Amino acid sequence: SDSHFPVPLSPSHVDYTLHYPQLFPSPDKVTSSKRIQFADIGCGFGGLLVSLSTLFPETLMIGMEIRDKVTEYVKERILALRLAHPGQYQNVSVVRTNSMKYIPNYFSKGQLSKMFFLFPDPHFKEKNHRRRVISPHLLDEYAYVLGVGGIIYTITDVEELGEWMQACLKEHPLFEALTEEELEADPVVKLLGSATEEGQKVARNGGQTFRAVFRRIDPPSDA
Ligand code: SAM
Repeated sequence: SDSHFPVPLSPSHVDYTLHYPQLFPSPDKVTSSKRIQFADIGCGFGGLLVSLSTLFPETLMIGMEIRDKVTEYVKERILALRLAHPGQYQNVSVVRTNSMKYIPNYFSKGQLSKMFFLFPDPHFKEKNHRRRVISPHLLDEYAYVLGVGGIIYTITDVEELGEWMQACLKEHPLFEALTEEELEADPVVKLLGSATEEGQKVARNGGQTFRAVFRRIDPPSDA
């Protein structure tokens, strides 16, 4: 249960020295004002983070995962990569947490530039839709932690869930869909179906995927 993992009181309590020790060697918070910008929600085994780490070497990123063993695996994976490639993978970390409850404890208003929801659990039954990681209510929270221009990436192999995520995002006043041209031009979009363990499994089985990628926008003015 949630009581088994610590939760920072606020984003300023997130221990950067623990997550990024080479970049934040001293607990003195003044040494760097750099903050986490990418969050992979329900990161699973961490495949996306590993790809993003070298694609955006200057950007701090974190995976959020609720399963203890899986989180430990990702920690070990990152440590092994750091050892094998000195100087690399210093910008990536993982935390065990319930992202549906604690996102605002980790990120302040407008802090993030990308959030990822790759192959989230489908929760098929109507009464379980409230457990979905994309919902009208949670989108309010994601809109809060994303800066204007920030992007939410979602993908699933479950058609019904794909339609649900697309519809939630479309109906939210603070998100707009990327155009086909923008999707083409974004190198991250290509990773969505190929970088994670779940994506690779779906691809191996020749499964279809459903993507929704939306940008955080300013509130529409009622002028
Ligand atoms: N994104 C990864 C991928 O594409 O390979 C993992 C996909 S897996 C189907 C969904 C993941 O979300 C699982 O690892 C699960 O433990 C995690 N998860 C589910 N609910 C969560 C929550 N409330 N907070 C954090 N992680 C959660």
